[in-house]
Amino acid sequence: MPNIVVLGAGVSGLTCALVLAKQGGHEITVVAKHMPGDYDIEYTSPWAGANVLPMALDKDSQWERKTWPVLRRLAKEVPEAGLHVQTARVLRREKDVATGLKAALADGLFQFDPWYKEVMDNFREIPANELPKGMHSGCEFMSVCINTAVYLPWLVGQCAKFGVHFKRGILKHISEAYNLSHTGKKADIVINASGVLACRLGGVMDNAVYPARGQIVVVRNEAKGFMPTSSGSDDGDDEIMYVMQRALGGGTVLGGTYAKHNWDPNPDPNIAVRIMKRAVEAHPELTDGKGIEALSIIRHGVGLRPAREGGVRIEKEKIDGTWVVHNYGHAGWGYQGSFGCAEKVVELVGEIVKQEKRQSKL
Ligand code: FAD
Repeated sequence: MPNIVVLGAGVSGLTCALVLAKQGGHEITVVAKHMPGDYDIEYTSPWAGANVLPMALDKDSQWERKTWPVLRRLAKEVPEAGLHVQTARVLRREKDVATGLKAALADGLFQFDPWYKEVMDNFREIPANELPKGMHSGCEFMSVCINTAVYLPWLVGQCAKFGVHFKRGILKHISEAYNLSHTGKKADIVINASGVLACRLGGVMDNAVYPARGQIVVVRNEAKGFMPTSSGSDDGDDEIMYVMQRALGGGTVLGGTYAKHNWDPNPDPNIAVRIMKRAVEAHPELTDGKGIEALSIIRHGVGLRPAREGGVRIEKEKIDGTWVVHNYGHAGWGYQGSFGCAEKVVELVGEIVKQEKRQSKL
């Protein structure tokens, strides 16, 4: 049975471990510095909202297309996973459309006539008479919001149920993973799901990876009915607006920022005030029409999205004689693309196993 070591216990590593374990026929060990339950600037997954707002351009949409049916099923059929169905409301501001939607059109979410209208349930263009003031156009569709504090431990539990072993470890070089299988034998394949730290991991040192810093405020107030997001804000190019209420009492996440190449782990109080103002303006029900003083804050947070020039890296590579399958660089869509990417990882693992069997090494 091939020995697989998964480096990383974020949503990328855990989803790969789960999909591989369900397939069967492998011995799997997950090794990570940080595990669900930890909150750390080097560990992105717990800080995500997280919801499904399709971001890819059509040509790169395969990961999100493949993941959506799985997340929808979990939201509808598996309440203990911590997802619930919510309506997403995507709004293009008049002033952004007037300037060509420059920043917003870098991803697929704000495109006119988007590819995802065929994929997301209950998609509808919002009629002009329903648009909030200052909005040019927009759409609504059925989405989900994931309570990451419940979902990540649920993934660990599912992995354990299918025989995955877990270990803590801090690796300086990817080759250290080769000797960390719980079986005591050398790993045949390592999955590299090290997120933003792929740029510092020996043997990988991917210079194309950089952080896209996201600051959030989590509040007790409820954002009933829908999850709004808009194409820009008046507070600078790095500042965005989104609101989402998490399932199972996880609070409401107010966002946020998308600051490229910014590693600052500390919440900036001025940014926090602007985030809250934008959220209350877009979703007055949050505070029953009152100001940000009526928000009850659970915590301020900062997470580093693992962005990468050229996009996500999912490919196999032999490093120091052992196969490594990379799966990192998911920027702001790690959850909503998780199962699609894991499927590709499983395919690459299958290719390696076949090739090595032919050469009778496994
Ligand atoms: P991580 O979660 O960072 O996990 C990396 C793992 O590797 C950790 O376990 C770490 O300890 C381990 N590791 C790394 N290097 C080493 C080493 N040398 N030795 C040992 N262990 C190591 N995505 C969505 O889909 N929808 C959203 O709504 C959404 N909203 C977001 C909002 C914010 C504010 C942020 C910050 C992100 C958001 N994202 C969202 C993006 C999503 O969170 C990321 O794409 C995803 O979490 C990346 O997961 P990962 O497993 O690749 O990395």
